[in-house]
Order: sequence, then structure tokens, then C-alpha cells
Amino acid sequence: VSTCPECGNDALATRLVGGATVHECELCGARFGDPEAVARLDDAEQARLRGVPVDVWPLVRTLERLPGLCVRGASAGDEAAGTLPFVELGPSSHDALRSLENLAKSLQLAAPGLRLHWVVELEYRRHLAFVLKPRHGGGAVAAATARHAMADASALARLIERDTRLSWWRHAGGGTVE
Ligand SMILES: [Zn+2]
Repeated sequence: VSTCPECGNDALATRLVGGATVHECELCGARFGDPEAVARLDDAEQARLRGVPVDVWPLVRTLERLPGLCVRGASAGDEAAGTLPFVELGPSSHDALRSLENLAKSLQLAAPGLRLHWVVELEYRRHLAFVLKPRHGGGAVAAATARHAMADASALARLIERDTRLSWWRHAGGGTVE
């Protein structure tokens, strides 16, 4: 590759991302090359701009698209510190309940493929909050549990994203069936 497919500029920076080659146009910033590596770089940049840990960004992105809900905070968890990932959601409109119902159903469907038991807990964090997280009985979080939780968070992002495109999700609660 010698010129940018977006703008035709020929000043390209090349970098290796996890063994795959990505070219970046120094003029317009377009990235091309290995599609997965490009997506990873784009994700990392979006996460940084939003101030969200990159490991939990796909889950945050999926959840913040749900009608009636907004993401108020998120953590990727930390194996060394013994903390687990979570995403804190808040209601932003009357669509919140329908989205939460769909999310609860999606969690139930995803459960057999997850290592931990994920729940949406109702909490009071200065205001009403719905916190998506793995259930934990308290006490120290084992390193393996933190690792499993992160793997689950990635899987959940994919599974919830998939479910949002299914007809049961789109038609839930509205009473209108196509
Ligand atoms: Zn360009």
C-alpha cells in the first residue's frame, strides 16, 4: 500500500498491532490494513476519548445505545487490585424499563455461556442506578475470578449486541408486531 484510499495522500505511517499491519494516513488519519487490528485501534481511540477503560468499551458502547438508558460509569476491573468490572446505567427516558427488560432477558440467554453469574443490581448512587456486574458474595476477589469476569464482559458485549438486532428485542413491550 502506498497511497491512502480515502484521500490519495502518500505519507503513510505503518504500525504493527498484535502482529498485524495497520497503515495510517498522516494527512486524514484514515486507517486501513488488517480489519480486526484496525477495529482494535479505533476502539482504543474511542475509549480514550470517552474516558472509558478499553477492555470494557465494547460493552459500554453497546449499552449506551439502548433507548432510555445512559452509561454513568464503568470499570474494567483489576486483577491485581481484586476488583470486578461493572457498568453503571441510569434512566434517561421512559424507554428505560423496556430496555432493562430486554437486557435482563439477554443476560438470561447469555448465562449458560458465561463463567460468572451476571446481574443488573438496583442501587442508589446519588441517584437511581442499574449496575451490570458479576454477582460476588463479598470478600476478596480471586485473580482467576477477575480474569473470568473480563472474558465474560467481552462475551456479553457481543451477545447483547447480537440480541439488540433480534425481533424480540425490537418489538418488546410495544405491543406492535410486524
Ligand atoms: Zn488520507
